[in-house]
Amino acid sequence: MIGSTMKKENRVKLFEDYLDELFPNPRCELEYNKDYELLIAVVLSAQTTDKRVNQVTRVLFERYPSLEALVTARLDDVADILRPIGTFLKKAVFVQKIAEALLENYHGHVPNDPSSLQKLPGVGRKTSNVVLSNLYDYPAIAVDTHVERVSKRLRFCRQSDDVSVVEAKLQKVYAKKNWARRHHQMVLFGRYHCKAVKPECDGCKMRGICPYYQKLSKK
Ligand code: SF4
Repeated sequence: MIGSTMKKENRVKLFEDYLDELFPNPRCELEYNKDYELLIAVVLSAQTTDKRVNQVTRVLFERYPSLEALVTARLDDVADILRPIGTFLKKAVFVQKIAEALLENYHGHVPNDPSSLQKLPGVGRKTSNVVLSNLYDYPAIAVDTHVERVSKRLRFCRQSDDVSVVEAKLQKVYAKKNWARRHHQMVLFGRYHCKAVKPECDGCKMRGICPYYQKLSKK
């Protein structure tokens, strides 16, 4: 049975087995030692790679090893450290405002509920989902560029679906207890296998049932 005719739930089941085989212990690739370091790293990861974020946060958190130090840092110095990841001035402002808000409103800790988190500067739904699932085991599926691409290629959703629809559809196909795990696995699968450019279809076990691959092969 090929991808275009196989039922979605069967494609999902095969995909979940494959993800568990490829990534039995999935984890976020952003480096952090403290809760706020993860939050800041996720905010900084917009429009850049985790690898680049890790390079700048190693410098940032060594030079400014506490929230208080981040708040009192010179903005131009923070921006200079963040320069390699793009939109560095805006991100530097976010870093300082987040540090300030955590100290003022949350005793220096990252809040564990989506509505409080999403009130913080630079924090949207995707960031909040990533942070909550990593720090607090909160069931969430953050839809980043990798998750969206893989979901569309495997036709778990429509091409025209926006990220909130993709998220809602993924919440229906996966068991809630697995949401965070599947999110991490799909990020890794998109990053290392089902890449945006030149996906590694030849070695992919989904090839036989992947609608995207089958469409490509017909061309
Ligand atoms: S066959 Fe290719 S396009 Fe389909 S899931 Fe695998 S890597 Fe992605």
